[in-house]
Amino acid sequence: MDFILLGPPGAGKGTQAKLMIDKWQIPQVSTGDILRAAVREGTPLGVEAKGFMDRGELVPDRVVIGIIAERLKEDDAAEGFILDGFPRTIPQAEALQGILQDLGRNIDHVISIDVDDEELVTRLTGRRMCKGCGESFHVVFNPSAKEGVCDRCKGELYQRDDDKEETIRQRLRVYGEQTRPLIAYYEKQGKVRRINGTGSIEEIFSRIADAAGN
Ligand code: AMP
Repeated sequence: MDFILLGPPGAGKGTQAKLMIDKWQIPQVSTGDILRAAVREGTPLGVEAKGFMDRGELVPDRVVIGIIAERLKEDDAAEGFILDGFPRTIPQAEALQGILQDLGRNIDHVISIDVDDEELVTRLTGRRMCKGCGESFHVVFNPSAKEGVCDRCKGELYQRDDDKEETIRQRLRVYGEQTRPLIAYYEKQGKVRRINGTGSIEEIFSRIADAAGN
């Protein structure tokens, strides 16, 4: 089961990926999470990526393609993976095809989650993430039991630097220009299932399970 989750920032890719991990027992591979960890640790990768991320721009293709080429070779991805936030450009999609070909495998499902822009801005400005486990909350729609504290691991909640309104609008522009064309790219391969990304987390997850034929 090799999945790509496509969709604008705030569509719920990360939230849905967590449920998919439990159902299919395959790992989530999020380039955003990998880059944020590198920024936190101050590695050379993090130093290179930080400026792009803070401005709401994409990190250069060569950097993220290198990350994915290494990550997909790891043992835990042997039975499948959920790509969350990759690919984001046509050159990344082409590189992915080459990486998978070398591994003798292929993308099975591209799930594209649709949510309109104003809803995305509302979701992202209220989003809070856990420093410990990466769980995400929303100050209005999905608040933690105790303000600022993660329900799952008791870690501290924070607002991502790029979840400020101006940066969000820039990320949505970048999505429209560079990432949305991937829907047509994968439609030509007959792989895309588009799903409505509004509703409860469980409703959206059942649409994904239906789209994957499970
Ligand atoms: P995300 O958590 O997926 O919203 O990613 C946060 C930020 O990391 C993005 O705004 C980009 O700056 C960078 N990033 C994550 N994935 C990619 C990718 N596939 N290509 C380029 N930049 C990426």
